[in-house]
Amino acid sequence: MSSTKRGRPAPKLNRACMLCGIVQSMSQFRNDGCPNCESVLHFADNDELVRECTSPTFEGLVANNGAEESWVGRWLRIEKFVPGLYAVRVVGKLPDDIRSDLYSQGIMYRPRDGTVQD
Ligand SMILES: [Zn+2]
Repeated sequence: MSSTKRGRPAPKLNRACMLCGIVQSMSQFRNDGCPNCESVLHFADNDELVRECTSPTFEGLVANNGAEESWVGRWLRIEKFVPGLYAVRVVGKLPDDIRSDLYSQGIMYRPRDGTVQD
């Protein structure tokens, strides 16, 4: 299923957001934050936070055309996910302090690492 096209420079998509699952490069997360979760996680310009809340280990990439609604979208009070690549499974969990911070904002974080069944 993986298709590698040669000769086309692209940003290295090597980290997945643990909250919404979008896959971007480290520098995209650092420069622009997560396009879905920025309002609650505040990644931009926070290298440490990006490292804590995104994971380099993920599987099952799916392209989302942006038309899909999801439970995360509802919690984050965004209508729809932004178009992009999303990981089905993200290994790792958000740190406890981030989770309690989300909780205080009314967002019940569910790990995307496969330990919680929908
Ligand atoms: Zn996110």
